[in-house]
Amino acid sequence: MLELATRKIVCACDACTMTFVPVVEGRFKVIPRDPRALPDFQMSEAEWENLALPISLAFFFHHTPNAKMVAMYPSPAGATESLLPLSAWESLVRQNPALSGMEADVEALLVDRVRENRRHFIVPIDKCFELVGLIRMHWRGLSGGEEVWREIDRFFERLQESAR
Ligand SMILES: [Zn+2]
Repeated sequence: MLELATRKIVCACDACTMTFVPVVEGRFKVIPRDPRALPDFQMSEAEWENLALPISLAFFFHHTPNAKMVAMYPSPAGATESLLPLSAWESLVRQNPALSGMEADVEALLVDRVRENRRHFIVPIDKCFELVGLIRMHWRGLSGGEEVWREIDRFFERLQESAR
């Protein structure tokens, strides 16, 4: 269960997660459970570079309280927000119609284009928080160190497994 305004997970008990209404009291939303892989994701290198993110690992979601798309990328200090031009997002949705089925606030497009990776998923938002936490925990020095990149790889392997 996610509180929309603060983007915090407020509860994971059965009673809350079994709630069948999509929005509770206009404040909370139940987070879906299943990630979806997007093996045919369309996005050119130029489009990615236009987003001007400092790291090729980011997630994107619609934040209802602010009525805007948010881009966030994990960093050793936690998740950092970046400006996402609406036109850039609309062009992505045109090329990837699956994105229009994303649930606002509680689902995100997760992108890993680090080095040769081209991994794209629609994931429950708590998966993004999990990735952010994992990076905070394992990041060492300026470039993160080998351990954090191994952990990130494992995270995406688990995601791929559960997306089947
Ligand atoms: Zn609860």
